[in-house]
Amino acid sequence: MVGKLKKVDYLAQSGILQFSVLSLDFMDTIYKDSIHCNFFSLPSFSPFPLILMELLKRIFFSFQMLHRYRHALAKIYHNNPHNVQLRQISPAILKQKGIAVLVLDFDGVLAAHGEPYPVEELHDWLNECISTFGSTQIFILSNKPLQNRITYFNQYYQGVRYIAEVKKKPYPDGLQKIMVLTGQSSETLMLVDDRLLTGGLAACIANVPMIYITRPYVLLSKRPLQELFFMMLRFVERRFIQLYSWLR
Ligand SMILES: [Mg+2]
Repeated sequence: MVGKLKKVDYLAQSGILQFSVLSLDFMDTIYKDSIHCNFFSLPSFSPFPLILMELLKRIFFSFQMLHRYRHALAKIYHNNPHNVQLRQISPAILKQKGIAVLVLDFDGVLAAHGEPYPVEELHDWLNECISTFGSTQIFILSNKPLQNRITYFNQYYQGVRYIAEVKKKPYPDGLQKIMVLTGQSSETLMLVDDRLLTGGLAACIANVPMIYITRPYVLLSKRPLQELFFMMLRFVERRFIQLYSWLR
């Protein structure tokens, strides 16, 4: 009746959400694209309720934190000039202002959503950052730490670290891990992100300054639905935070 039980290491699409679950043989075919199985023998359950639970927990946490940090988020939005792109930021000026560690988001900031590598025009800018801060003081903190991105940075920007295996933003875990790794205080970090309800909230919680990228990289011709979804998301979160911050 009960088939051979297996331990399933499920790697979620993002590549960060990794956990062990148990599954019967037939689960192999259901999840064949997204799981890697090893023999194990404990009761079985599906990974999908767990993913859903994690997602709901993250959404609940986001709303809780949104309420707490609504004024700080609105301040980030209002204090940032519009049409800001990453290459317009001067690493030297950041350094003069006391920033010692640069934390960069990937999707929208270094490239359009889902792209494997940073856009070519940022190559010189990234090298300028490395010579200003030192490669070990630059981090990539993305909710999609894909392996090909990590490999790319290891190969072309040695010393720059891609933070993985931490809870996704808006959880502040990634920023806190960077503080531990560098031994720097939160005020000397600078997060550069194009989302207020993920990066922005994480920055508020961890008390890290943030530059809000208001002109993110977008590749509508390649991924129209995904890009339109994120464009809508950015627009809605900006309006929502503007309205919500009026509450005392
Ligand atoms: Mg982003």
